[in-house]
Amino acid sequence: MALTGREAREEKESEETTAMERDPASSRPETAARADPAASGDSVRSNPGHHRVVVVGGGFGGLEVVRHLRREKTVSVTLVDRRNFHLFQPLLYQVATGGLSPANIAAPYRAIFSRQKNCDIVLGEVVDFDPERRRVILRDGELEYDTLVVAAGSRHGYFGHDEWEEIAPGLKTLEDALEIRRRIYSAFETADRSDDEAERHAFLTFVIVGAGPTGVELAGTLAEIARHTLRHDFRHIDPGIARIYLLDAGPKVLGAYPDELSDSARASLERLGVTVRTGTTVRSIEPGRVHVTSPTDGDETIEARTIIWAAGVKASALAQKLAEATGAEVDRAGRVVVENDLSVGRYRDIFAIGDMALVRTERGEPLPGTAPVAIEQGRYVARVIRNRMRGRPAPTYRPKIPGMIATIGRAAAVGEIGRFRIRGWIAWLLWLFVHLMKLTLFTNRLLVLIQWGWSYFTHSRSARLVTGLEHGPGGETASVAREAGVRTIGPRS
Ligand SMILES: Cc1cc2nc3c(=O)[nH]c(=O)nc-3n(C[C@H](O)[C@H](O)[C@H](O)COP(=O)(O)OP(=O)(O)OC[C@H]3O[C@@H](n4cnc5c(N)ncnc54)[C@H](O)[C@@H]3O)c2cc1C
Repeated sequence: MALTGREAREEKESEETTAMERDPASSRPETAARADPAASGDSVRSNPGHHRVVVVGGGFGGLEVVRHLRREKTVSVTLVDRRNFHLFQPLLYQVATGGLSPANIAAPYRAIFSRQKNCDIVLGEVVDFDPERRRVILRDGELEYDTLVVAAGSRHGYFGHDEWEEIAPGLKTLEDALEIRRRIYSAFETADRSDDEAERHAFLTFVIVGAGPTGVELAGTLAEIARHTLRHDFRHIDPGIARIYLLDAGPKVLGAYPDELSDSARASLERLGVTVRTGTTVRSIEPGRVHVTSPTDGDETIEARTIIWAAGVKASALAQKLAEATGAEVDRAGRVVVENDLSVGRYRDIFAIGDMALVRTERGEPLPGTAPVAIEQGRYVARVIRNRMRGRPAPTYRPKIPGMIATIGRAAAVGEIGRFRIRGWIAWLLWLFVHLMKLTLFTNRLLVLIQWGWSYFTHSRSARLVTGLEHGPGGETASVAREAGVRTIGPRS
């Protein structure tokens, strides 16, 4: 990908410094002294003479910090993550709906950084911080740092109803995506085997709670699956009769978008056959049904075997830990309130970025939890670290609200980029291009391009696999199926 003007300047700056600082010792590959955690119970890594930067979380923000320190010969970077791969979350819904395979949107850190010699990877879960001793506490050891960057992202928020999570999973991890995929395709399978009309309808009813970008993407794709992808695949049901509800307590879909784009998105969804219910609050969720209420329709129960949560997000639990350790504050969404230079509390050597940090623009608006924001902040923190290494003052961080674009389905999307509002084909092509270019590995870009091209012309979704079953159609859907008296054997006319 072409470098932007600023990236090119940063590259040049780094190269000049590298040339100035080059010495035989510093050009050696990193050989951090490693205590064997299994043997010592302690995984403190040290690299004498180097400035040790520990980055917690290899999402969009953390990855950018590590990448932008790649030319710093006197810096050793340790990236610690509880997963061994970077996940491209904006395409998770495509895994959840069987359009892409998990490996298409994930990239192992060791592959990404195999040539970055000043980067070490630690697979481990961070549980706490000790800023006085400059240690990151892992579940099974510790890491010592000179500068710490925490970019641990966010998780689902159920507005105090965590018990809903099992019934209505959210979409944040690959495991979530595979579970949702299992539930969606199991529901069609079970409906095909059911003799009971009401039960069959319940299996063919899908409720998505939350009409933000993820909810809209899921609803639009589910409608396409039911009407097109599966059209010829079943012998006892017509998947096209599936009902897809998209619920939101707010007054419109894509609440952060201007009204004209929200209206356009809603119209596209309705054309696809999605029932959009805004101003509708979920009162409770139980297996097989959602109880809702709205000022116009009053209380109502929707019988649905597949319920997906796309409504709330809260910061990683590490935000609270970091705030407690540093004396910083957290907001209602659990994000750490950071200083203007993204440092935390009174600690100039600790930074928090991305979804877990609360940053406001000059006009006081909080920055949204999006990939461009995390990327921008990761680059900024890397520049601060580089400047400090050279004894230069930190650059000023100027937060700005990035452009946004959401896809609704085939050839339909809406977006706002600066002063421009786009929709339809053009927005959809831009969405495809941006997502493709931002995917982490070249092989993933190529594979995704081929799959998208194929499914555009054929409506097919090649990864619609039901996995994770222990005893046939498993989990909740299966037990509901058993309760529903679903046929187990024999042909049917
Ligand atoms: C389904 C979905 C769709 C999205 N679509 C879009 C979109 O279209 N456009 C857009 O701009 N944004 C989108 N986003 C938001 C975007 O993905 C996030 O804003 C972005 O990922 C935030 O980056 P981050 O670096 O803060 O955190 P993340 O990318 O979430 O990375 C956090 C990392 O920290 C690691 N971690 C967490 N806790 C620990 C721990 N205790 N120990 C060790 N490691 C830990 C995680 O494993 C992860 O690798 C979407 C998000 C989701 C979930």
